[in-house]
Amino acid sequence: MQWRKRINLVLTLGALAWFTPVAFATAQPQQVTSDETQAWHDLQHLAADAMAGRATGSAGSVLAQQYLQRRFAELGLHPVGDDYLQPFSFHEGFSEKHGVNVLGMRRGCGQPARYIVVTAHYDHLKPRGKKIFNGADDNASGVAGLLYLAAKTQQSCPLYSYLFLATDAEELGLDGAKAFMAKPPVALDAIVLNINLDMISRGESNQRLYLAGKKQLPQLVKFAELAQTPLKLTLAHDGRQSSLGRRSQPPVDWSNASDHAVFRKAGIPFLYFGVDVHPQYHTPQDDWQRIDPQYFFAALRLIEQSRRWLETLPPQTFQKSSNN
Ligand SMILES: [Zn+2]
Repeated sequence: MQWRKRINLVLTLGALAWFTPVAFATAQPQQVTSDETQAWHDLQHLAADAMAGRATGSAGSVLAQQYLQRRFAELGLHPVGDDYLQPFSFHEGFSEKHGVNVLGMRRGCGQPARYIVVTAHYDHLKPRGKKIFNGADDNASGVAGLLYLAAKTQQSCPLYSYLFLATDAEELGLDGAKAFMAKPPVALDAIVLNINLDMISRGESNQRLYLAGKKQLPQLVKFAELAQTPLKLTLAHDGRQSSLGRRSQPPVDWSNASDHAVFRKAGIPFLYFGVDVHPQYHTPQDDWQRIDPQYFFAALRLIEQSRRWLETLPPQTFQKSSNN
C-alpha cells in the first residue's frame, strides 16, 4: 500500500458507519495443503534480505522478477508477448524512471474472451542505511496470494481468462498498474474485474480481513454472508476510513490506496483484499517472522472462495460503471 494516499482529514461524526463487520460460524482448523505451504515459501522468499525490499529499479527487484518468472513458468502461465516481463517508464517529479511488471495469462474454458485481472504489487521500499524494509506483509503476502490463485486455476480450468499481474512501482504512485491500463494487452472492454491483493497476512488479534469493492459490486454482501472462514471478513475500506489501530492518525483513503484504484477509475469492478495498517507498516520490522501462517492460510482460502463464487455469478454482473 502506498503511503502518500493517507489523507489529512479530521474525523467527522458522519463517518461513523464506516464498516460492516460480518461474523461467521467458527470453522474447524484445516490441514495445510501443498499449495498453502508453497505460498508460505513464496512469501518468505520474496521477503528475504537478499531481495532487500524489492524497490523499483534495484538489484533486489531484478531478483524478484527472476523468481516470479520461474514461478509463472512452473504454474503454466502463458506470456503475453515475448516473455513475462513488461517494462514501462514513468515520471516521478521531473525524473524519468523505469519499472517492470510481471504478467502471465491463463486461458479460461467457459468465457475465454472475458478477463479477470489479479493484481499484487511486488515492489516495496529501498533500504535506508543498513536498514532493509523487507515488506513481508506489504506485499510479499499479496504476491504469494496471486501465485496461489494461479495454482488453483491450473488445477481446475477457470470460467474466465485470467491475467496475473505482479505490479512494480505501486509504492511510488501505482505506476505499474497505470502503465498496464494505459496499454492493456487485451481490449479494455474485455476486462470484467480486478482482484487486488495488498497486505493479506496480518489480521492481528481480531483476525480481521477487509474486502473493499461493494459499492461497484453490491453482490459482495452476499459473498460475505456465504463465506466459510474463521476470519472476521469486513466489507469496508471503500473510501476514507481511519485505521483501527491508529485512530489518532489521519484516515486512509482506501479507495486510492493500492492498484485497484486504477481499475476503479476505469469503471471496472474490483475486489480489494487487505488488512488494516499495523505498527510495522512501512518499517524495517515488516518481516515474515511476525506473520501468523494460520491467518495467512485462512486468508488464501477465503480469497480463493471469493474467486470461485465470482465465477458462479451471471457474466452480466460485471458491468462497467460510472459509480466509481
Ligand atoms: Zn506499501
